[in-house]
Amino acid sequence: MAQPLRIEPDVQFIRELQAVGGDSLKKCYQCATCSVACPISPADNPYPRKEMIWAQWGLKDRLLSDADVWLCHNCGQCSDLCPRGAKPADLMSAMRNMAYQKLAPCPSIGKWMSSSKGLLILTAIPAVIFAVIWAIMAAIDFGGNFKGSIFPQGEVVPGKIFYGDYTIDPVFILVTIFVVSAFFTGVKNLIKSIGPVGSTMMLGKKKNLLVCLLEVITLEILPHAKFSQCGDNTEEKKFRKYGHMCLLFGFIALAVVTGCFFLGHWLGRIEAFRPIYMEVPLSFANPFKILAQLGMVLLLVGLTLLTVRRKNQDPAKQTSSWYDWYLLGVIWVVALTGMFTQFFRLADWAVLTYIIYYLHLVSVFMLLAYLPWSKLGHLVYRTAAITYIRYMGRK
Ligand code: SF4
Ligand code: SF4
Repeated sequence: MAQPLRIEPDVQFIRELQAVGGDSLKKCYQCATCSVACPISPADNPYPRKEMIWAQWGLKDRLLSDADVWLCHNCGQCSDLCPRGAKPADLMSAMRNMAYQKLAPCPSIGKWMSSSKGLLILTAIPAVIFAVIWAIMAAIDFGGNFKGSIFPQGEVVPGKIFYGDYTIDPVFILVTIFVVSAFFTGVKNLIKSIGPVGSTMMLGKKKNLLVCLLEVITLEILPHAKFSQCGDNTEEKKFRKYGHMCLLFGFIALAVVTGCFFLGHWLGRIEAFRPIYMEVPLSFANPFKILAQLGMVLLLVGLTLLTVRRKNQDPAKQTSSWYDWYLLGVIWVVALTGMFTQFFRLADWAVLTYIIYYLHLVSVFMLLAYLPWSKLGHLVYRTAAITYIRYMGRK
């Protein structure tokens, strides 16, 4: 005789899910149109219909161990065709938002990131750190630049306040260590929660994990292959794909410049590496400066495309959550403050240059230090989930 199956819904979990973007999930009546409509959902275990019913029933464990939420690329086609307006794309997005809160350690940061109420404290942390650095530099009159003012005198150089060797580099080295260790724990938790799902049938030799990672990066992430497949063939789809591509390549360009500058600046002090020594400000003819400018332009183009896309979204079909706006907002501030610091420095407007550069550092900190808890964390978590699924043999 079949055993009865007891389902114990986690009502608190349903409320949390609704709070981070899944507020329409109760409207679903399980017609499965969404799973048929999704162009990238696998035929043998399609999404997002099953996630809708798990969410309605409050099956927290099922949802938190569901690798498919990371396969969804949030094109919104399922929501467009849903006859009930249940917004399945929002549910998939809400599940990822919840994962950002729960995967990495320091759950307080995850909680602050989940709504606008946490913005003040998230901003206050770097604002205080850099204000203290500024105050100390002015008080000790570092390099004899300040002469009783809080703004350095003479040539406008942001490094006179935030001297790289003793202020910026140590702060951001600590931030990098913090972020890498948070991602390490987050990815470990993600893989543990996915477990052996997807390994139902494996034919042939098991793949090497590193090979799977390289395949995912080169075949899916860099060319944005899934973005071409999902969504209908409209302008909106192009905005999504090219907006994401511009942001990704913009970030890569800026990361390359920062990494090379860091190595050149520190390694170049050793006699054998003297030719690669670099010092700020770089001249406009320097190839790294050109690459940085290109990265900045890509960021601005990507931001414009993605912001226009979000503004044009039909709220009856797909909504934007706090996670979406926080990320776009912070990247806008990073890009604009970076650009204006440069303009004001060239115009020799000392006060504006130093204030805008201070805001630039605060926003860069907010982008980097909270990465594992923000929507941008999907870069790492999605890559890890797709790699693991591939490694386990699921197509
Ligand atoms: S979310 Fe919409 S399309 Fe999907 S099963 Fe529910 S009612 Fe049908
Ligand atoms: S948002 Fe797009 S990728 Fe995600 S489930 Fe819906 S149709 Fe599929």
